[in-house]
Amino acid sequence: MSAKTRYGIFKAMVDCSHCGNPVVTNGPLSRTACPSCLQTVTLPPDLWGGIIGDYLADYDKLEPGSGTDGTLMTGDLTVKYSCVRLPPPAPACPTCEENWDLESVENGADRALVCGKCGRTTPVYPAPPWLREIVPSAKQVFFADRETNEPEVAEKGAKPIALTCPQCGGGIVVNADSDRTIPCKYCGVDVYLPDGVWLKLHPAKVAKYWMVRFEG
Ligand SMILES: [Zn+2]
Ligand SMILES: [Zn+2]
Ligand SMILES: [Zn+2]
Repeated sequence: MSAKTRYGIFKAMVDCSHCGNPVVTNGPLSRTACPSCLQTVTLPPDLWGGIIGDYLADYDKLEPGSGTDGTLMTGDLTVKYSCVRLPPPAPACPTCEENWDLESVENGADRALVCGKCGRTTPVYPAPPWLREIVPSAKQVFFADRETNEPEVAEKGAKPIALTCPQCGGGIVVNADSDRTIPCKYCGVDVYLPDGVWLKLHPAKVAKYWMVRFEG
């Protein structure tokens, strides 16, 4: 691998442009779905260009393992982010703490990277074209989610939750398969599930670090 290879670790959380609730963006994504209001949040390339471009501009000033935090506002979006210069130390498998074999991943690879010790897998994929357009040195993405129109939820199968209809006081039981708005079976009014209930049924993903390889 060329001496010019650099990596950056990023973590980002955006306030939903529709409802204001935090939305985890575990990857360089041009759009994501809000787990609270289920609407699509569009993340313009400029936003990632700003975060990733600033990181690269400051790269030589950062000690390995150290980083910066920031808040970026663009249009109606507010993004909180962290960047860390790695490696060294090399990123490690969260299961067994063995270092990932980053050099085994060629640019353009679209597959799973397998931990040589415990077999845990993590996705690797090429930097999306819109990202390469704005940050030409961005080559390969590690540990990140992919773009999806589905809300980022950790898991389904949460226990049912009982609440009372704000109109008639009747009992309503909701579970992970319930729609965000459900009709009360007693009075027929549409009940919009409060954020607290909804997020309990659809636990939001935790923001995690993802990594980009840069070359050139
Ligand atoms: Zn929202
Ligand atoms: Zn492992
Ligand atoms: Zn009711």
